[in-house]
Amino acid sequence: MTLRAHRLGVRFPGRPVPALADVSLSVAAGRTLAVVGPSGAGKSTLLRALAGLERRTTGTIELDGRSVGDRPPQSRRIALVFAESALLDHLTVRQNLALVVRARTRVRERVDDIARAFAIEMHLERRPRALSTGERQRVAIARALLSEPHALLLDEPLASLDPELRARVRDELVHVRERFGGPMLLVTHDHTEAMSVSDELAVLIDGRIEDYGEPQRVYDAPATARAATLLGVRSMNVVPCDLLGETGGHLLGIRPERIVVAADAPLRAVVTRVERTGADTYLHLACDRTKLLARVDASDAPEIGATIGLRIDPRDVRRFDAATGRAQ
Ligand code: ADP
Ligand code: MG
Repeated sequence: MTLRAHRLGVRFPGRPVPALADVSLSVAAGRTLAVVGPSGAGKSTLLRALAGLERRTTGTIELDGRSVGDRPPQSRRIALVFAESALLDHLTVRQNLALVVRARTRVRERVDDIARAFAIEMHLERRPRALSTGERQRVAIARALLSEPHALLLDEPLASLDPELRARVRDELVHVRERFGGPMLLVTHDHTEAMSVSDELAVLIDGRIEDYGEPQRVYDAPATARAATLLGVRSMNVVPCDLLGETGGHLLGIRPERIVVAADAPLRAVVTRVERTGADTYLHLACDRTKLLARVDASDAPEIGATIGLRIDPRDVRRFDAATGRAQ
């Protein structure tokens, strides 16, 4: 079972540019593709188009080698879960779940079974509104799985959770993936979530895929300068090439964690701000007119106004064409 999209496009009426353009992707059974992108990039539109809730303007959608792009949503068997997936509030959690069980035999058993897997068995007789956000979220994912979809799409499922719960539910997503076994697409704007639960990563910006591949590769060697600035706890520095004495007018991409403070290094910078985040400290630096962000150990932070030396290994530097933003 593979989910494929080929040159998928969506243009909303009255909008000058398409919300989604030329998006091709392929997710095999048991694999997870994470789609990251800034707000408004077209992530939800992509999932809605795949699920059949948004009409595509161009391209094809295939599931298991068969074209499903012209089928109504119900018959595509592509389940979409989003952060505020509506559960029916006049029904109990058990009734909400039982309603969608595809195989109509052993319904009670199937509901009990999935409830155990998602640790919601103690909430089965309650109403959805009596649950916490995290619990409701688990019910929504459990419900999607009970409908036995051929592909599972998750649209920022953790967006409304607090950080501690996010970490827990993130572990659960790995479990969902194992239990589900089909192709899974996870949309998120949280790069940690994307990196930690996916086999592949697509970076969507302005409706187009800027980079697509193995997550660590996308992180280490992004295809474009824009994709580079999107991933990471803090953005990659994208700066003019003369910072390192290179010529050619290109841009340099340097991750904050790859910059080493070294007293005797010839590249000099002034500390303009010291930003403590707990475990790490980020130094805001000025090298002449070029601004840089560097990550250092909390215990090594210099003072504001100090002049320090920086060492940057050329092997840690990405180079991008200044005009197109493409990696060189
Ligand atoms: P994301 O999920 O990445 O934040 P969306 O897919 O929701 O982005 O939206 C992508 C773009 O399409 C945005 O510019 C948004 O305003 C626009 N858009 C989304 N839905 C509609 C709609 N029904 N009609 C017109 N424009 C829309
Ligand atoms: Mg969205």
